[in-house]
Order: sequence, then structure tokens, then C-alpha cells
Amino acid sequence: MHFVDAKGILTAHNGNAGMNIYRGCTHGCIYCDSRSKCYQFTHPFEDIEVKQNAPQLLEAALKSKRKKCMIGTGAMSDPYMHCEEQLGLTRKCLEIISRYEFGLAIQTKSDRILRDIDLLDEINKKAKCVVEMTLTTYDDELCSIIEPNVCNTKRRIEVLEKMQERGIPTVVWLTPLLPFINDTVENVSAILNECVRVGVKGVICFGMGVTLREGDREYYYEALDKHFPGLKDKYIRTYGNSYDVASPRSKELWAVFNRICKEGGMLHRPDECFEYMNDLPEKYQQMNLFNL
Ligand code: SF4
Repeated sequence: MHFVDAKGILTAHNGNAGMNIYRGCTHGCIYCDSRSKCYQFTHPFEDIEVKQNAPQLLEAALKSKRKKCMIGTGAMSDPYMHCEEQLGLTRKCLEIISRYEFGLAIQTKSDRILRDIDLLDEINKKAKCVVEMTLTTYDDELCSIIEPNVCNTKRRIEVLEKMQERGIPTVVWLTPLLPFINDTVENVSAILNECVRVGVKGVICFGMGVTLREGDREYYYEALDKHFPGLKDKYIRTYGNSYDVASPRSKELWAVFNRICKEGGMLHRPDECFEYMNDLPEKYQQMNLFNL
């Protein structure tokens, strides 16, 4: 990893704010879009760029904000990858969010988030905290191939359960479904049934498939050659260079998705999930001058 002083930390996003403390990721997911060439990495993806001044920048930004909002993190790089254990920058940023009583929507695949559960609970009590967890495969062995450096789905479900016990709302990203790998009715049903069981508020799924583009595609194909011999040629024959790589079982999978989500009372349209995650109730939006 290497350290930089960033110029800013928050980006505007639909009336709310997004932040990435790290750049790059060590979780090693074979399909990771964040390693695509369009993001213009000037260093190897696993050589994490650490924005060492993130807490100071965040504090200055929150101090100057006139209205409270939800702060999103985890979209481009996991806030709980390995280096967070020693660096604790995500934790420092959460402490600031809690102190200034902003809301938080935090996305991860890692059970390291449990280290900060008290802080998440505190943020949820003062304002609002939504924990977003990505789940792709219920099969542990497959999980260790497609997401090799992070805890498996069963452990992630335990994390969701622990959040639920604290009353911290959760949202699951069901993505990607890799054609001919995890795009089965059994897999989607098993994941969604677990989501219902542990009281997940909403499930985000943009499509029953994966997206591939330059940088990401090459890495993915190398992994296919290593773990699924012959599958790369099938992808090339079926999808060519297309960005959208939809499962041939999409229709069937959507039917299962809609049925289980509806029956289980989970939000399942992306717009309603985002509306839920972006909404900081009015009563929390006013700045409490005595806290600043
Ligand atoms: S956790 Fe997210 S950012 Fe990290 S490798 Fe996996 S998909 Fe990429």
C-alpha cells in the first residue's frame, strides 16, 4: 500500500455524499468492475492507495455542511479490506460521522465490519445507518474461488443477522450473477430465503448477469482459465465483447427474485432501495448547533 494526501474526500451524490477512503482493493473478486481501465489506476489494483488525511478532510467537510445528509461509502473499494485492520481509517471516519450526527450507508463484503458494530449502532440511534452487504453465491467452495480473500456468504449472513439484532437496517446487493457459474435458481433462492430470514430491508439487483469491460474482462478471463477450463471460449462465443453479459436464465431468475422478495416483504426495485438508503428523516437533518 502507499499513502497520499487527498485534496477532497466527499463527492456529491443525489443530495447526499459519497466517500472512498481507499483506492484499489485486496479482496480479489474475479469479476471486480473497479479494476476496469476507465478508472485510470496508475498503480496496481492491489497496491492500495490510502488517503491518509481522510478523517481530517471529512471532519472539515462535515463542519461546513449546512444540512445533514447520508454519507455513502464502499461503492468503489471495500472500507473493510485487510489494511483497515491496522490503519483504522474507516473507524476514524465513522467516529466523525457519529460525532456530527450524520447518517451512513456503508457497503462491504467483510465481517471486519463487526469490529465497529457499536459505532454503527450509535450512528443509527443518532441519525440512521444502513449496512449493505454483497452476496453472490451460497456455495462456500465457489465463494472461495470467485471472492477469494474475504469471508464467505454464510459468514456475511451472520453479520446481517447481528446487525438485525441491533436494529441496524440492512440492504443486500445481489450481484453479479456470473453466467454458467452462480446463475442458478437454487443459488438465488437460497440467498434470498436467507435474506428474508434475517430481516433484510431491501435487495438491489440491476440485472441477472455481470458487466465486463477493458481491464476487468482480462482479469476475469484469466480466472476462468484457471478455475473453469473451457468457459472463457463459451463466453467469447456467446457474448463477444459486449459490456452486458446477461445470464441465459435471466427470465427464470427474475421470476424467482420477484416472488421471494415480494413474499418476504423486501424492497426490490433499485429505485426504492436507493430512496430508502438516501433518505435521512427530516428530524435528523437540522444541524444541532450545540454539537458543533
Ligand atoms: S470487494 Fe468490491 S472492490 Fe473489492 S475486489 Fe471485490 S468487487 Fe472489487
